[in-house]
Amino acid sequence: MNAQISSFYQTVTKQCSNAHSLRTICELVCRNLIQSFSINHLQLIIKSNNEWKLLLELNSKGIQYYFPPTIIPTANEYYYKNIHYYANKTEASIDIFKNYRYILVPLKYHAKIIGHLTIAAPLTSTLQPKHLTILTALLATEITAGLIKQTTKSHSLSRKHAEKELLSSKEQQQSLLNYLQGMHEISFQLWRSNIMKDMLFIAVDEGKKRLNIDRMAIFLFDEQQKMHGTFGTDIQGNTVDEFYFHSDIPNQWFASKTLKDKEYIAFQENTPLYHDLQQIGFGWSAYIALWDEDTPIGWIACDNLLTGQPLRNYHHQLLKQYGFIVSQHILRLQAADTLIKLNHDLEQRVQSRTKALNKANEQLQKLSRIDALTNIANRRVYDETVMTEWRRANRLGLPLSLLILDIDNFKTYNDKLGHAAGDQCLKTIAAVLSKVERRAGTLFARYGGEEFVLLLPGQDQQAAVNNAQRLLNAMHKIALPFPCLELNNNAPAIVTISIGVSTIIPSQTTTYDAFFKHVDTALYQAKAEGKDCFRVLSPTL
Ligand code: GH3
Ligand code: MG
Ligand code: MG
Repeated sequence: MNAQISSFYQTVTKQCSNAHSLRTICELVCRNLIQSFSINHLQLIIKSNNEWKLLLELNSKGIQYYFPPTIIPTANEYYYKNIHYYANKTEASIDIFKNYRYILVPLKYHAKIIGHLTIAAPLTSTLQPKHLTILTALLATEITAGLIKQTTKSHSLSRKHAEKELLSSKEQQQSLLNYLQGMHEISFQLWRSNIMKDMLFIAVDEGKKRLNIDRMAIFLFDEQQKMHGTFGTDIQGNTVDEFYFHSDIPNQWFASKTLKDKEYIAFQENTPLYHDLQQIGFGWSAYIALWDEDTPIGWIACDNLLTGQPLRNYHHQLLKQYGFIVSQHILRLQAADTLIKLNHDLEQRVQSRTKALNKANEQLQKLSRIDALTNIANRRVYDETVMTEWRRANRLGLPLSLLILDIDNFKTYNDKLGHAAGDQCLKTIAAVLSKVERRAGTLFARYGGEEFVLLLPGQDQQAAVNNAQRLLNAMHKIALPFPCLELNNNAPAIVTISIGVSTIIPSQTTTYDAFFKHVDTALYQAKAEGKDCFRVLSPTL
């Protein structure tokens, strides 16, 4: 037996010195035990994490090596039931059970039991626990070393893994931070643009750069549910004007997802990518719906056509946020546009109203200054003008002449021919006499009833006399018939006028009222002296 043992150890030592792994050593030991001692079963149990676990087993199926050591299967009835029995054994022992001699040897490392080796040998075998002392010492050392190595290895692996995780999460965190910073900066730029077109350009151009998106386009919807291009990205990545683009809202996955299901964002991977409705590649694409409360107003389309960069988990949050910002700015500028339009409309309305009002005012002014029947200046104009001219003549020491005209026998004319004929007569006389003196500054006005005045600022008495004569002549020239007037000389009866004339250079000692009475007296004289004539009264009288 001793020769058998020493040959066993010689072989095992030699073979194990070339072995590098615990597994190889375990398998070598197993094979040599079978060969040298015809053993049938073997079990190597070790304590790992305070639990008994199976490292090596020889059974009818052959050699099984478990690393990391496994919990002893419950099906392994015998060993499983005796786990605690084994565990409490601190010394080697032999049990006879059924047709086997079970040799149990504890594995000790620095006096501490780290496991048990159980060997089932035939009843005829003379193998003793003491024969296995060196073997168990060898196994204990190798197992301890192997476990430590494994622990270190797994620690370092998990540390490396953790470090990698940390690094990548740090990277993700950093890039997310960068993107958020970028978004913040775009937000400022968007605030600064007060024109819709500028704002949309910035939203696309800067949006791509700062959020690291290959292609981006913004589409807006109109009330007829048509979509209109604004700015987009061509297949080289340039931001381009796409205002020419109009289309119905396409009947595609993103439309129903965003508009019908009211989701803010729709993503699809490995999907056809389009430009101007033409398919131009494959990749991921995202549609971010833009909302005015519950109403969709457009969307932002994004894809990865140019770089094929993968979809990141932060894209979702980032783009949703971006959609929200862009919506706000579209609504802000739409409101501003509406306000500008309203203001413009209002301004135009005010302008046209002002025009109409001015015209009406003019009309009113005119009406208030023109005699309705005769269409010449009325009494009011005369009153204003005469006072202005009186003061001016007074200031400048200029003459002021005044003629008062009164139609002769007009009461009779009315009585005989009727009031309408009287009115017509007044109109005709006014039209004719108002054209007699046309020099600037002169005024021919209806004073009241059948009386008219001719004011001649700056004209002296001679000029006034000339005018009086011309007025009488004009009446004779038009020779308005006065059918029922009986005259002595059988000349045909016509409508005539009488005129009072006077001229004054106003001064501190004269008044307009006195002057007017003076002219009226001259008129009375003309009437008294036979009518159809004029009389001049000099103010000194
Ligand atoms: P005399 O020659 O002295 O001036 O006599 P007369 O009849 O003209 O004088 P009177 O002042 O007595 O009559 C003026 C008449 O003028 C009275 C009125 O019927 C008439 N008359 C005044 N205003 C109008 C008017 O607007 N239309 C018409 N049809 N008649 C008027
Ligand atoms: Mg009169
Ligand atoms: Mg009269």
